[in-house]
Amino acid sequence: MKTEEVTPIKIEKTTSSRIGQVDFDKLVFGSVFTDHMFVCDYVDGRWETPQIIPYQPLTLDPSARVFHYAQAVFEGMKAYRDDNDGIWLFRPDENFKRINRSSERMAMPVFPEEYFFEGVKTLLKLDEEWIRKGEGNSLYIRPFVIATEPSVMASPSNQYKFVIICSPAQSYYGGEVRVKIADHYSRAASGGIGYAKAAANYGAQFYPTSLAQKEGYQQVIWTDANTHEYLEEAGTMNVFFRIGDTLLTAPTNDRILDGVTRKSVIAIAEANGIKVEVRPVKVSEIIAAAKDGSLKEIFGSGTAAVINPVAGFGYGDEKFELPKMDKPYASMIKKLIVDIQYNKAEDPYGWRY
Ligand code: PMP
Repeated sequence: MKTEEVTPIKIEKTTSSRIGQVDFDKLVFGSVFTDHMFVCDYVDGRWETPQIIPYQPLTLDPSARVFHYAQAVFEGMKAYRDDNDGIWLFRPDENFKRINRSSERMAMPVFPEEYFFEGVKTLLKLDEEWIRKGEGNSLYIRPFVIATEPSVMASPSNQYKFVIICSPAQSYYGGEVRVKIADHYSRAASGGIGYAKAAANYGAQFYPTSLAQKEGYQQVIWTDANTHEYLEEAGTMNVFFRIGDTLLTAPTNDRILDGVTRKSVIAIAEANGIKVEVRPVKVSEIIAAAKDGSLKEIFGSGTAAVINPVAGFGYGDEKFELPKMDKPYASMIKKLIVDIQYNKAEDPYGWRY
């Protein structure tokens, strides 16, 4: 990693921490934020000196282009505290590369690597107390970039703001998850922005997801927009299917987010002797496997929950329940990843930072 030419970050510390007001045992995901935030403005073709300031509202002109044309991208990553008070990130280089891939797709400027890492590290040092010990506890880190130029002209902004905010988290999902396989709505189209972590991708999912929720499901599994015959990913997770002893997952393409957890699941599974097939997965194949009993597990993978097992799914008017496995791959793989994240196991992959 490059460390030369690091512009010193201007730091303004808060005079009164809010940490005493937070009940860390009753956190609602993404609703409480730490004392500081990182901000860096892009003006006149360059990123200015980054700053860390007390967490506070942003002031934007109502014509700022982000409000009109959704030039906005983000990332999601976590910091973990180990039993010896070491603080770790998991594969942050992947998040860094991905936010810049997302920015490029949205005609936004890329952010310098040294600012990103210095920003995250300095922010975490300042707000270190907000990272709690114990498995499941973490600090969710949300970098994002928005178009700030005051102008409603429908063209790329000339001004941007890169921000990092942090939110203490317990585990993301609770309870059993049932998912609906999409047969009408789509999350992303070929040639579109599905592979980018662009804000617009998420806003567009809310309505079809709310329809699925009315039917009793928690999430949608998205299928390809052209035929709805192939399974692609879940709302904010990549998705794996276990048929017999083989794990199946779709190859990434321009409609699918290249998940850091997905990559890690594939590597860990293969290293532990599980056969993984990365290939297009047909809806019909999963339905047939559910009917003949060979479909053993479905799970989602993502930073928020690491692995989220699916208890059942619906397709059209049909509903299917997954069997309760004695030793599900989902828990086995989750433990192997979580142990690396919390520095409880060797990290032969060099994923811990
Ligand atoms: N797909 C989508 C659409 C997502 O928003 C996420 C969460 N970032 C993922 C997959 C999982 O990605 P990751 O493992 O990098 O969190």
